[in-house]
Amino acid sequence: MTSSIERQLDLPSVDERHTDRRNYPHGVAFMDGQYLPMCEAKISVLDWGLLHSDATYDTAHVWNGKFFRLDLHLDRFFQGIEKLRMKLPNDREDIVSILKTCVALSGHKSAYVEMICTRGTSPTFSRDPRQAENRFIAFAVPFGSVANKEQMERGLHVAISETVRIPPKSVDPSIKNYHWLDLVKGLFDAYDMGAETALVVDTSGHIAEGPGFNVFIAKGGYLRTPAFGVLPGITRRTVFDLCAELGLSAMTADIIPAEVKQADEVFITSTAGGIMPVTRVDEATIGNGRVGAITRRLMDLYWEKHNDSAWSTEVIYP
Ligand code: PLP
Repeated sequence: MTSSIERQLDLPSVDERHTDRRNYPHGVAFMDGQYLPMCEAKISVLDWGLLHSDATYDTAHVWNGKFFRLDLHLDRFFQGIEKLRMKLPNDREDIVSILKTCVALSGHKSAYVEMICTRGTSPTFSRDPRQAENRFIAFAVPFGSVANKEQMERGLHVAISETVRIPPKSVDPSIKNYHWLDLVKGLFDAYDMGAETALVVDTSGHIAEGPGFNVFIAKGGYLRTPAFGVLPGITRRTVFDLCAELGLSAMTADIIPAEVKQADEVFITSTAGGIMPVTRVDEATIGNGRVGAITRRLMDLYWEKHNDSAWSTEVIYP
């Protein structure tokens, strides 16, 4: 059965997304040189991507049959691979072709598309990461969002957790990674506080980011987003580009928790959902409790930009 939310978002129904009893979403993956249904894409339990979180990845999205800002995702992915001293046999052009093929074969017009490079395994089971054969995996599954339709309309309820995001001196946050235990702990803290998602803090107690998103606040018409200890999100970068077009002022800066609660507007940003409003932080109502005017303008322009050929890459479906 398709719910009205899914119909309005033009997403496949839950039944279509989960086509087998092990809950694999409908989609197509590429690994070890082959295209496979999602339920057949499996890695060795010895892959260091699993055992040590020794991996980098990137997630792009396709909307109405077009990738959004694919070049920026590829730039970040290749920078991560280089910083982790990994090597792939595939060049950028190969990867673009693989990603497009995964989407085309999946048939999804709105898709969540992940590219992953794991450390892989060493053919001799050596513990030396230099001897590992790195592995490339890609997949396309239905588009998903941090915020559902109702939350997009009324704004998310967010809690600020005291959990500290892993410091940049331990793990470079510009390398998109699966070190999520802090974010998952933050999420459980948020649920315990009756909220829907979480913000965690950095080592100085400033706001960092949340499970899969960056955050912005607006005060007196000025926008700010944390500078330190966060993944430089592509959607965050897109907000800066949109602000430049709209004549809005946006900057990176340290933000203390009280400033989030006293902001005129708060929103979060992610490839999984775009620009998503926040109307409650802990016990505080943000602004008048409804989605703010700046947030709305940015959300509208963000989705309009999906039709701009300068920011999109067409998928050719069979
Ligand atoms: N921060 C973290 C920890 C993330 O995992 C993500 C996305 O998954 C983001 C921020 C948002 O980044 P982007 O806008 O590139 O999706």
